[in-house]
Parts: sequence; structure tokens; C-alpha cells
Amino acid sequence: MIRIRSLTKSFGALQVLKGVDLDVHRGEVVSLIGASGSGKSTLLRCINGLEDPETGLIEVDGALMGRELRGGRIHEVSPRRARAQRAEVGMVFQSFHLFGHRTVLENVMLAPRHVRRVSRDAARSAAMEQLERVGLADKAGNYPRQLSGGQQQRVAIARALCMRPTVMLFDEPTSALDPELVGEVLDVIKDIAADGATMIIVTHELAFARDVSDQVVFLHHGTILESGPPEQLFGAPRHERTRAFLQRFT
Ligand code: ATP
Ligand code: MG
Repeated sequence: MIRIRSLTKSFGALQVLKGVDLDVHRGEVVSLIGASGSGKSTLLRCINGLEDPETGLIEVDGALMGRELRGGRIHEVSPRRARAQRAEVGMVFQSFHLFGHRTVLENVMLAPRHVRRVSRDAARSAAMEQLERVGLADKAGNYPRQLSGGQQQRVAIARALCMRPTVMLFDEPTSALDPELVGEVLDVIKDIAADGATMIIVTHELAFARDVSDQVVFLHHGTILESGPPEQLFGAPRHERTRAFLQRFT
């Protein structure tokens, strides 16, 4: 479903991603862990097209984007398709990015209406379906400020799901929440995973990552130092740096 090859990305002189290779299969849940500044958000942002790869290839559900080095020259791979690709990738951020002057229902309907051009009625019923799924159908008429942080994040998840993305990316979805609100958001993410969604989750909730993931990836200074099933990566990390990272959380 996702295939990443030799992905690099720099900001000025700072090389943030230094040749990332990653495969995520359909229905697979991948947790991405690593220290602050290791490049986790940048990697997600490259996958959903918020950042352009510098070199390397990213394929999402058959659509290729990126820049390829061939015969000593950089070739752009299908940038128009890359833009269309963005709509296929759902992303949930640490801060919920809801529109404050729109109701919950309007927030969820917005992208299907304007990007997918579906009718108002169809968008509304799809939005209600997703709000139902995250347990917030009764808040449809409320404004974001009337909701708790956990509820706002669940609205953001419903909004992403409403586009029927082929892949869901979560960037520290619970980091901005009070501890007592973390569980409700993780439960929703777990339900989506159980429904067979393909997803990558950046998280510091290691117990959750262990529980929900098929694969855990440890990013260190812009390279994947180690990856594997959770039992192996958490239980018997191969690399000294992985052990050191994990120790800070236990
Ligand atoms: P955190 O756990 O703190 O969220 P991260 O692993 O998500 O960290 P990134 O946000 O990917 O890390 O950032 C990696 C590095 O790239 C950091 O040094 C950051 O300052 C730098 N960086 C990220 N985005 C930009 C940008 N738009 N311009 C310049 N530098 C950037
Ligand atoms: Mg980040």
C-alpha cells in the first residue's frame, strides 16, 4: 500500500531524512517512534504530500510521487498525480486544526463537499456516519470550543475518515491532550485499526503502540535504525540506541 525508497529531505543545510525505506501493507498498522527531531513528522508530511521529497520515491496505493535519480539527472515523478494523492491520505495532527467558526458537522462535511464535490445531503450523511463511529453524533451541532480536547480530536479523526482515505496518518494524536482524555482517542484509533485501515501512527504511547501495531519503526537522526513486530522491537531491541530510547519511557 505504501512503498518508500531512498527518501531524503532537507531543510536548507539540515538533512532531516537520510534515505528512508519503508513498506506498509494493506491493513497494516505501523507505529513510528523516535526522539524529538528525528524526522517523524517530516516523514508523514512527505507521505501525504505536505512536503515534497528531495530525492527518492513514495508510492501510495499505486500512485507514485517523488524525484528519481536516473542517468545522473533528477526526474520529477508525476507531480499532478501527487497532488491528487493528497486527498487519498488522511492525516490527524497533534493540534486538531478544526475551524472554530464552523460546527462539528460542518467541519467534517467540508472536505468531501469541496474536494470530492459530493452533494450536501450525501456529505451530511457521510459525516454523520463518521461522527457516529467516533461517538460524537450528538455533538454535530456544537462548535469546537464547546468540546473537550479529546472530543475535538475525535472530530478531527471523523473529518479525515470522511474522505474515505486509503491510508490514515496520525502525528502524535494524543500529545496535546490532558492525560484523562488520551484513552478515548486511542480507543477510537484502535477501532479504526480493527476495521482494517492502513495506518501509520507517530506516538509516544508505547503501550498503545505495542498493543495496536503490526510493525514498529524506530527512526533515529533521519534513518530507520530498526523495525519489526512489537514483541521484537520492544522486547528484544537489536540496537543499542533503540534500547536507550525505550529506556527513557519505562
Ligand atoms: P517531534 O517529536 O519533536 O515532533 P519529529 O521527529 O517529528 O520531532 P520533525 O518535525 O520531522 O521531527 O523535524 C525534524 C527536523 O527538521 C527538526 O530539526 C526540525 O527543526 C526540522 N524541520 C522540520 N520542519 C522544518 C521546516 N519546515 N523548516 C526547517 N526545518 C524544519
Ligand atoms: Mg513531530
